[in-house]
Amino acid sequence: MMLHHVYYQLAILGLLWLWVMLHYAWPSRGATSQPRPADPVPLTSKRTRSNEPKPFEGLTHKPHRALCERETAHPPAPPPVPPDPMPPTNRRPREIDTSLHFCPHAGCAYRGWFGLGNLRANGRPSGGPWRQFHCTSCQGYFLETHGTLCHGKQAAVELIVHVLACLAEGLGIRATARVFEVDANTVLHWLVEAAEQLRAFSAYFLCHIHLEQLQLDELYAVLRDLKAGAIGDEEAIQRLERAPSWVWTAMDPPSKLLVVVDVGSRTLAMAQRVVHQLVQVLAPDCVPLFVTDGLKDYGTALLTHFGSWMQPERRQGKGPLPKPRWMPLPALLYAQVVKTVRWRRLVRVQHRVVFGTLEAVQQVLAACGWTINTAFVERLNLDIRQRVAAVGRRVNTLCRGEESLRDQLELFQVYHNFVLPHASLRQPLLVPEVTNGRGSAKVWRPCTPAMAAGLTDHIWSLKEVLLYRVPPWPQPHRA
Ligand SMILES: [Zn+2]
Repeated sequence: MMLHHVYYQLAILGLLWLWVMLHYAWPSRGATSQPRPADPVPLTSKRTRSNEPKPFEGLTHKPHRALCERETAHPPAPPPVPPDPMPPTNRRPREIDTSLHFCPHAGCAYRGWFGLGNLRANGRPSGGPWRQFHCTSCQGYFLETHGTLCHGKQAAVELIVHVLACLAEGLGIRATARVFEVDANTVLHWLVEAAEQLRAFSAYFLCHIHLEQLQLDELYAVLRDLKAGAIGDEEAIQRLERAPSWVWTAMDPPSKLLVVVDVGSRTLAMAQRVVHQLVQVLAPDCVPLFVTDGLKDYGTALLTHFGSWMQPERRQGKGPLPKPRWMPLPALLYAQVVKTVRWRRLVRVQHRVVFGTLEAVQQVLAACGWTINTAFVERLNLDIRQRVAAVGRRVNTLCRGEESLRDQLELFQVYHNFVLPHASLRQPLLVPEVTNGRGSAKVWRPCTPAMAAGLTDHIWSLKEVLLYRVPPWPQPHRA
């Protein structure tokens, strides 16, 4: 009985003490008499802490790169040594220029080499449209369309070129088939064949490029039940995160050159694939400035391909050396433009420098008078939406597959880089050219992205591209 009594008294005393202590410790309403809407101090301090760029500490394991490892295991065979040019003969000088043709015959020493004087132009066999060539080394004959889309085609070249031009301008496959009154499957077949040739064309011209900066982005390809503009990007990202149809692009802002375009899911593996393709296209010592959106997989992919092992310095005087770390190359600059969208409205744009320093990034961009942005690649995405039917709008069954979309993008890439002059790239003519009639004199020289990037010296027509015989290896003047 006594024990209980003492226990209750103790409990009451304890509660009283707790109440008194709480009264002093708790910020009372009376003490903060001025009403404050919200305490901004802890919020901002928290935000700055999360925004402060932490120096990258490096990885202890080299990031996995399946593509590169597969290639180092099976390196592509180096091109053969070109033979000596053929000695000139006593025959009359050749009138037909054969410098853009090569002998296609396997086993011929002159196979795949331009302008070595081994070719002689003949007439057009059985009244056909194409000239025949004769190789004086292997005594073989071939047509000038050998290895191009037009080889062995019954349809007129003009028709094929016009059909592909229509596709390149953004008309769908079925619509193009209706315009030219050909079967839709024929159009699809020509597209597939052209894409194969255009892939080789791009690979031949886009190699060993030196670039100062690159912008990368990915845009969703509209699937059957999703119309462009009907849903916002955020919603589309949620719906299509696992869907395989994202168009990945990498472009050089100053020249507008579309360097890489690919289709796939929005995953790290795909980011790795895009950056891997970029490495193949760039010159070995070229490390440009990269600007992307906030997708974190780019950072990993860039670190994988533009990184090396570094030995960190010892923190204390004694002890074993710390483990080597996989670090970004000192020359690597990478910035992100992170956009926050709420209710389909852009509410905030943040710039984040991931690799390198802000000063170095700004220095590269200041040469063009720019700040950190992804505006150029976003403008290019708009072009893709307009010119690639499968991306821009509702798609019919013919071009729904990823392969078909890739073929159309292949066509877009060459058309954009080599055929279409870009308004912002035009160069002023030193001497205005007089035009026919009473029109004003021409003062601008139109220019394509490939010309601005120094890959070619003229505007190509689509026919010229399709009839170009892509050699199997780089030629001496280009290597
Ligand atoms: Zn030959």
